Amino acid sequence: MNRPPIDVAPWPPQDETDADNSPFSPSSSTEQVGLVTGWRLAVALPVHTYMPVGLHGLPDTFDYRLPLNLTNGDAEQNLVGCRVRVTMGRRELIGVVLHQSPLAQAGGLAADQLKLILEVIDTQPILPADIRTLLIWAAQYYHYPLGEVIAAALPALLRQGRPLDLLERYWRIVPEEIPVWTRRQSRQQQAYEALALYQQHGASEATLLLMGIDKATLKALETKQLIVSFQQPRQSRMEPITLAELPLTPSAGQQAAIEAIRKCLGRFEPVLLEGLTGSGKTEVYLQVMETVLAQGGQVLVLVPEIGLTPQTVNRFRARFKGHIVQLHSAMTDLARMQSWTAIAEGEAAILIGTRSAVFAPMPRLQLIVVDEEHDLSYKQQEGFRYHARDVALRRGQMAQCPVILGTATPSLESLHAARHGKRLHLQLTERAGEARQAALQVLDLRGKTRTNGLSQPLIQAIGDTLAEGNQVLVFLNRRGYAPVLLCESCGWQADCPRCDAHLTVHQIPLHLHCHHCDYQNRLPLACPACGSANLAPTGNGTARVEEALREQFADVPIRRVDRDTTGRKDAWESIYEQAHQDQPLILLGTQMLAKGHHFPYVTLVAVLDIDGSFLSADYRAAERAAQLLMQVAGRAGRAHRAGRVLIQTYQPDNPLLQTLIQQGYGNFALDLLQARQLAALPPYRHAMLLRAEAAEAAVTQHCLQYAVKQFRAQAGSHLTEIWGPVPAPMEKRAGVFRGHVLIFCQQRKLLHQLAGQWWRDLQKSPERRGVRLSLDIDPMELD
Ligand code: ADP
Ligand code: ZN
Ligand code: ZN
Repeated sequence: MNRPPIDVAPWPPQDETDADNSPFSPSSSTEQVGLVTGWRLAVALPVHTYMPVGLHGLPDTFDYRLPLNLTNGDAEQNLVGCRVRVTMGRRELIGVVLHQSPLAQAGGLAADQLKLILEVIDTQPILPADIRTLLIWAAQYYHYPLGEVIAAALPALLRQGRPLDLLERYWRIVPEEIPVWTRRQSRQQQAYEALALYQQHGASEATLLLMGIDKATLKALETKQLIVSFQQPRQSRMEPITLAELPLTPSAGQQAAIEAIRKCLGRFEPVLLEGLTGSGKTEVYLQVMETVLAQGGQVLVLVPEIGLTPQTVNRFRARFKGHIVQLHSAMTDLARMQSWTAIAEGEAAILIGTRSAVFAPMPRLQLIVVDEEHDLSYKQQEGFRYHARDVALRRGQMAQCPVILGTATPSLESLHAARHGKRLHLQLTERAGEARQAALQVLDLRGKTRTNGLSQPLIQAIGDTLAEGNQVLVFLNRRGYAPVLLCESCGWQADCPRCDAHLTVHQIPLHLHCHHCDYQNRLPLACPACGSANLAPTGNGTARVEEALREQFADVPIRRVDRDTTGRKDAWESIYEQAHQDQPLILLGTQMLAKGHHFPYVTLVAVLDIDGSFLSADYRAAERAAQLLMQVAGRAGRAHRAGRVLIQTYQPDNPLLQTLIQQGYGNFALDLLQARQLAALPPYRHAMLLRAEAAEAAVTQHCLQYAVKQFRAQAGSHLTEIWGPVPAPMEKRAGVFRGHVLIFCQQRKLLHQLAGQWWRDLQKSPERRGVRLSLDIDPMELD
């Protein structure tokens, strides 16, 4: 049972000398069998292996033996929640103890056959009981190995065995030295002057980093002997949070929402806070947070991947003075661990983070906010495919606190739940301040010519807006220069050799690029099929539209925002700065532009191409397209100017689009919900998606057919519906052939019962050899 698994993930090798220096060094291997004393520990390890549920009721754990001498003489020590180092096969791994029982107890592998724990890393649990329970729930709900779920929840450095840092570096000035500044050193001067304010006790490096002072500057000052550093135990101090600015006077709608949510404090209550962009949702969060913080509580704020901009964080910092930490993927491993520790030890009161922050320990959690709850980035799309909004709801239930789901465009799941009384549905109907909602309008493209994606009426509208001194936002969700390279003589198109997809033409530098697998190649000089030299980049990407706009509006600055232009960290900053000057400007970009940003001088939003998104095979496509459209529209007219949105389309009569434009997102969503109900699609039934990929299409299909047969055998007469197996919409991607099966069931519980055993059995079946399988619970994308 306690065998090394076959299928193990790579793990950094550990420095073995460490173990010898540890106060808990491993027992000698000459220990006598028969006299085994100590503990049996159930350890969750970061390996992709499904193990049966043990006697302790936990899945996917491995039993190890902890000799008494490793517990440092403390025979009573409880190691549940602590990290340990163990061997598995020939590798050393770090895992988390989830259960501890006396060795003498019967059951499981005989005590003398258990492998020994090599090292105990923590003296205090790093995962408290509530987070362990949440992770165990998540592993079971998403049918993913518990050890990997735990690994996903821990910062990388803790996963790698780094001790929780209890010493912290501090800096202080050397008062005897008098600095002399040259103009070039203004950064150093600023840093020095900031530090001078902490003359007495010095300031922790973490604090200084938060103030925007970087390490290089500190080092430079140290070299000049103007400042010195010293180590000091981390102070687990809970800084009081105070108001840094006065709250705004809430509108009647805001006031009602704030009061309704305040009434829910202290118990679990999921709240759907619906309001247009700019209607003042953030102000509602801030005022409810104020109450929670005054009571000494902690607040978790989840934001979408793309929404965590310095502007978002500054909004919270401007309101609350005190310890606010962030967790997101752009941070260094060290910074992530510092944030994690600060919130876990209760020092910080506010955590603002993306998806995985939902797993951070927070001993005094009293409020959870999920901003833009409909956003797709809350769903992890590979590996451990959890949905952070759903985990947040579960967490709120466990912590007995309200969970605010804020959005302008509720997901159909949330709307459905609200309509069935499972969410407190609060609405903000007016825009805050004097801003007005932008008007949506279609621009009928039929029979009109376009130059590089821009129709004449659109060019006219852009010109008028700029002439009035306003800014324009042009939205096109396709980066690159042209989406296809076409031979005008024979119709050949440049396709990716590894995917069922066209290659995108990029101009700087000139090359062909696959946006699905990253394949890159030079442009051919002649058509490989007919030898003709008439190769034409066809269709429009953002780069080409930029070129066309430059020709039309030569004297207006254009800023393009997509993954090709905003790689550098400060690129965004400069765009943002420019957009905040009251000057004509064209902002052009992909959905990176659509989210969370505030462009007060934009009065026209031009949407170049949405056809297709309302007609996709994916039943969620229309919902997503509408959310994106509303979000882009929300960028216009946020300040004192009214905005309008022009949507170019060849299908001006599309009923969904018309409902959206004439009756707003709310009615559009109700129509969609009705359609989903008729088709018995989520949220009216629960779904899971089994994905498979293999080097040959036949292997993929064969494996999926087997899986379907097994599921049918297990489901028997239970009401489930199976769609597929079918090839994925893009069957070949990055050289493998992909397919899937979609399974629906009315009852969530039944679906999970059926799935559990079936999925675990599938892992062991010979049919899955050479096939990569994954199970996606509540899938968001059918690709
Ligand atoms: P949302 O989060 O719904 O997009 P915000 O809370 O960001 O809306 O509010 C949009 C703008 O309106 C912000 O600039 C904010 O400062 C302002 N605002 C919000 N509430 C009020 C209020 N009660 N009085 C005046 N201005 C407000
Ligand atoms: Zn050709
Ligand atoms: Zn490709």
